[in-house]
Amino acid sequence: MKRVGYFTHLDCMNHHMGHTHPESPMRLQAIDKELRSQGLMVDLIQFKSEPADIAQIKRAHNFEYIQEIQQIGENATIGGLIAIDNDTSIGPGSLRAALLATGAGCQAVDHLIAGNIQRAFCATRPPGHHAEKSLAMGFCLFNNVAVAALHAIEHHGLQRVAIIDFDVHNGNGTIDIFENDERVMVCSSFQHPYYPNRHFDTPGDHLVLTPINAGSIGHEYRQKVERDFFSALDRFSPELLLISAGFDAHAEDPLGGLNLIEDDYRWLTSMIIDIADRHSQSRIVSMLEGGYHLGALGRSVSAHIEMMLND
Ligand SMILES: [Zn+2]
Repeated sequence: MKRVGYFTHLDCMNHHMGHTHPESPMRLQAIDKELRSQGLMVDLIQFKSEPADIAQIKRAHNFEYIQEIQQIGENATIGGLIAIDNDTSIGPGSLRAALLATGAGCQAVDHLIAGNIQRAFCATRPPGHHAEKSLAMGFCLFNNVAVAALHAIEHHGLQRVAIIDFDVHNGNGTIDIFENDERVMVCSSFQHPYYPNRHFDTPGDHLVLTPINAGSIGHEYRQKVERDFFSALDRFSPELLLISAGFDAHAEDPLGGLNLIEDDYRWLTSMIIDIADRHSQSRIVSMLEGGYHLGALGRSVSAHIEMMLND
């Protein structure tokens, strides 16, 4: 069995964007409940995540933007929910949750590189992959996976890191941050056309973008991802694999229009493990992004973690 770290914090439950918002604290509860009922939680090495510091976040975001989010977060602590865009808000517990979500990735990288664990899953929120250098959007404030990648490169001296993003939405924030940074390969599969409707034709050898038609089922999705991602990743030979693990391409998801099932997440995970085994000493840090059907989210994360533990 592999040593898999599980990074989370109860304060990630204190970020609320209104009681009907799909990106709710219940998502973390659903994951926790399913991992326990499947008997997987006892096999994971538990870590309480720590907040990222500003120097870490500054590697991916403009300083003025970070200050703005901090300011809004502090105002919300006193005054309540503040809207950032149509679907993203900051409430009293949001800033701390966002710092913990970003910190979890850096901490997971530290433990992985120290050899304490071989793989990691960060069960934190808010998600991050829509957050651009200086723009919060799509439920995201800080780009957790981008900060983790830059921590691995600039703090630990890695030269090539790959980010695989299988959320149903295009990882526009991650692409924005690494558009001109060839140290990071970004592979993003996403429903197209669909939110956020950008970056689907961004050129660059280190950006692998795989649009998927609405309604696609598992084998159609697998064919395209296999064609695009894996030869590019073999060529790039990353020293560390990070995953933007969104589970909203699941057939039961209320937001996404793709039809993946748990087996497709098992397949994806095992393909990513193969790449990690070949190039990056098996090192994988997976970070939660989307996934809004609570039952499907719990089962899909469980399938993903089961593969990481056993494969
Ligand atoms: Zn998503």
